[in-house]
Amino acid sequence: MSKPLLIDKYGRQLTYLRLSVTDRCNFRCYYCMPEEGMDFAARQELLSFEELYQLSALFCSLGVNKIRITGGEPFVRAGIIPFLRKLSQIPGLEEITITTNGTLSKKHIQALKEIGIRKINISLDSLDRERFHQITRRDSFEAVYACIFQLLESGFEVKLNCVVAEGKNIQDLVPFVELTKDYPLAVRFLEEMPFNGTETFQTPQWSYRKIYAHLNAHYPVLEQLPNAPSSTSVNYRVPGYEGTFGIIPSFSRTFCGTCNRIRLGATGELRTCLYGPPATNLRDLLRLGFSQEQIEQEILDAVSQREKDGFAAEASHAWHASMSLLGG
Ligand code: SAM
Ligand code: SF4
Repeated sequence: MSKPLLIDKYGRQLTYLRLSVTDRCNFRCYYCMPEEGMDFAARQELLSFEELYQLSALFCSLGVNKIRITGGEPFVRAGIIPFLRKLSQIPGLEEITITTNGTLSKKHIQALKEIGIRKINISLDSLDRERFHQITRRDSFEAVYACIFQLLESGFEVKLNCVVAEGKNIQDLVPFVELTKDYPLAVRFLEEMPFNGTETFQTPQWSYRKIYAHLNAHYPVLEQLPNAPSSTSVNYRVPGYEGTFGIIPSFSRTFCGTCNRIRLGATGELRTCLYGPPATNLRDLLRLGFSQEQIEQEILDAVSQREKDGFAAEASHAWHASMSLLGG
């Protein structure tokens, strides 16, 4: 008998797993975690690499074909490269991508290439060293900037994730688009979401409409690009530019109708929507000795209860966990 697929009651098939391999990070981006006092999970609370592998293989047997490695900062976890190598062997897994803050070391770049990873997202919110420092609370702009070009030179497809916020980086938006003039980069501007690990969050002033209007005022002629079926961004190119830029309505949530993502947090929490509470904890089930079939059934149950969109998901939920734990 063939295995069931992860299809929710609205007919959306979940084929894309976002896997947080650690909640720890060498940065302290203001939108993701407080500067001090982060209560990181104890080592034994994190899914081990063996558990991450077992669960990933189970998801792939249920129709997942793409895994994004995220965190926390994936490259602060020792042993990540051998884990990725093993992950890449899972039958049915067509693509592994990574989201990183770009402080990965040069030697990893070659290893990632050998593993067959081709696409990497780097978080970069400013092209100015001072502003970068203020946003990430670390003075590491040069290293991250250099990493982007090392990746491009090594043949990777590179996207830059930029969280847009008043008083932080508005002066960087046009320079980011200018960076796409000569380089085949895909810049993605994101609305800020309420996952900063604190109780304070205000509705972002910079919605996707405002970001678009700002850029359109500067670039009156923009080519809108065709979208992949489950893409969360609306993408554009300035005519003649090498690269592209896109805008992601991550707070406005206009893309939920085609969302194909499921998230496994670093401590085993399974979320069928970023804005909702965890549906279950797969680490606990594994450690309690549940069989593969029982865990599979838990995952199917979670998917069957998936909410229609991010507004419905957050309705019954206080949502201030750090993105680093959720699998952002
Ligand atoms: N440390 C890696 C990095 O920064 O790329 C991976 C983990 S990070 C949580 C994944 C992505 O989530 C980053 O691109 C980051 O900009 C984004 N992110 C984190 N908190 C966010 C928030 N409150 N609103 C919007 N995006 C956020
Ligand atoms: Fe670290 Fe990424 Fe969160 Fe920044 S966004 S604090 S780099 S996990």
